[in-house]
Order: sequence, then C-alpha cells, then structure tokens
Amino acid sequence: MDQQAVLDLFRKSGALLEGHFRLSSGLHSNRYLQSALVLQYPEFADALGHALAARTQHMQPTVVLSPALGGIVIGQEVGRALGVRAVFAERQDGALVLRRGFTLDASDRVLVVEDVITTGGSTRETIAVAEACGALVTGAAAIIDRGSDPARLNLPMQALVRLEVPSYAPEACPLCAAGTPVVKPGSRAS
Ligand SMILES: [Zn+2]
Repeated sequence: MDQQAVLDLFRKSGALLEGHFRLSSGLHSNRYLQSALVLQYPEFADALGHALAARTQHMQPTVVLSPALGGIVIGQEVGRALGVRAVFAERQDGALVLRRGFTLDASDRVLVVEDVITTGGSTRETIAVAEACGALVTGAAAIIDRGSDPARLNLPMQALVRLEVPSYAPEACPLCAAGTPVVKPGSRAS
C-alpha cells in the first residue's frame, strides 16, 4: 500500500480534510486529520494493519504496545496481522502505565504502534513503559508521521505516510489573510 493509497482511504472516510480549519487548540490549519474516522471501517483498519505489519515484520516483534486511546485500534490490527499480542498503555495520574493485568518482560520484543506520530513525544513515553519492564523495543510504527525527528527516537521507525499538518495562530494564518472562511472540523457545511 503506497502513500497515495493510504491517503485515498483517509479522504474517502473523511479522516483527512483539506481547506481552512479551526482546530480544538484554537490554531488554524489547511488540513484536518482524524484517524479514528478511517479506522471505524473494518476493511480499512485491516488494510492499514497489514500494511504496517509488512513494514515491521523484519523487526520480529512478539508483542505490539500502543498508547491509549489513539493507538489502540491500529495496534490491535497490526498485532492481528503479525499474529502477536497487542497491549496498550494508558494514563494514570498523568503517567503512561500498563493496567488491566497487561504485562511485558525481558522475553518480549516490543513494537510500538500509533495512529499518528507528531513530535515523537508519546512514542518515547511508550518506549519507556516497555523498557521499564525489561522488554526490548525493536522499533516503532505509525500510519502517519507528521514530521517526527527519527534521530530523537533512536530506533527504527516505519510510517505509511509522511504528512505535514501545519498550524498557525489565527493572526498569523495565511488562509485568514487570504480571506478564506474558516470552519470547525466536524461541522457540516451549509
Ligand atoms: Zn485561519
């Protein structure tokens, strides 16, 4: 599955919109990305899971670890395609931890899977969860890489698509300057 095929699935399911958007942060962008919208369709989730599995099989993971909530669905699909366990870490009092009886130990080779990697901050945090259990992290993977710095991850990283999603303060927004009307994603165009 090449970059164009992945973006087609996102566009088809409304998971990638192009225009002029006011994001929940208050910043403006010419793109809006919501991968939950593509992953709601089982055939798309399955296809993306298989595509990431094909790119990461050589890392020989024995378990997939994802950060909740965004990483859970794609982590499950990648685990299924690889035939390995899929577990997730979630926040408790601000820190990412394993709960629900999920365990990792020194016998595990961990692949960290997320839907979207932005700065790589949550990826590093998820890697630290696995390493604290004594597990070996063999790599990281995401459907979309929004511009992380692979050098800072210090691990092999695979993404199906590299896509910039610029954001601007309203007063510095070139789309506002051009007079393009701004919309809130998810609201229906009238
Ligand atoms: Zn704007």
